[in-house]
Amino acid sequence: MPKSDDLLFIFIDNKLLVSQLPDENDSTFDTSIKYDLSSLPPLPEELRSFSDQTSDLVKTSGNQKHTLLDIHHLDFQQEGYQLLTLRELLALMNADDFQHIAQAWQYALFLRTHRFCGRCGETMRKVSWEMAMHCDKCGHRVYPRVSPCIIVAIHNKKQILLAQGARQKPMGFYSTLAGFVESAESLEQTLHREVMEEVGVKIKNVEYFGSQPWPFPHSLMVGFIAEYDSGEIKVDGKEILDANWYEPDNLPKIPPKLSIAGRLIEETLHRIKQNT
Ligand SMILES: [Zn+2]
Repeated sequence: MPKSDDLLFIFIDNKLLVSQLPDENDSTFDTSIKYDLSSLPPLPEELRSFSDQTSDLVKTSGNQKHTLLDIHHLDFQQEGYQLLTLRELLALMNADDFQHIAQAWQYALFLRTHRFCGRCGETMRKVSWEMAMHCDKCGHRVYPRVSPCIIVAIHNKKQILLAQGARQKPMGFYSTLAGFVESAESLEQTLHREVMEEVGVKIKNVEYFGSQPWPFPHSLMVGFIAEYDSGEIKVDGKEILDANWYEPDNLPKIPPKLSIAGRLIEETLHRIKQNT
């Protein structure tokens, strides 16, 4: 039996099983933080048959074991339980709790997509002492993928550059620029290349801001603040649909602060206001 402080993450398809809130319509819930790690329910009776072969140890943290149970396809609807996507949970949990869930989910996804060796096609096995899959036939070993992605807020005197990408269009957001690091590229090179490709301007005085794991599906967002150098905004109309300079008192709809994009924008606006 797991100890009471052990954590079990139960994924069904692409969702996490959590206990249903006592009363979802309770008006006293005026905060957006509705779930925490205590929302992870004990294994429901109906899912016990899955637990024998398919549970995986994510990590041991002190005396606490983090285990996941990955059930790919099941129509599970029981009173007292809810299934939520990671994007839903991101908005409803604090960052520290969410990180544990994100880690378990990325490991589950890794196991789902690395059952066979990419070099020789043999079935792979889990390595018992590290998060990896190994091929006994040819020795190939793989680890969960992490895809670094730069994200940058650009300012010019009293203004911030905000852009609407094709992905932000449905939500109506204007946000910072972002792009994946390509093979053999430094973060600085990615920054200058992406900004030039997406909006056609040069930047200078690049400053590291912070980072955020972003498990959709396996990115690491590396955030920067940069100053405008030269050039006119010119968007490609495909990846970026629109981009403009905005003053702090005349902003379009921007992303929430739980994302690094939201925090980058907040910090940049703060600096602009301090300097004016
Ligand atoms: Zn192999």
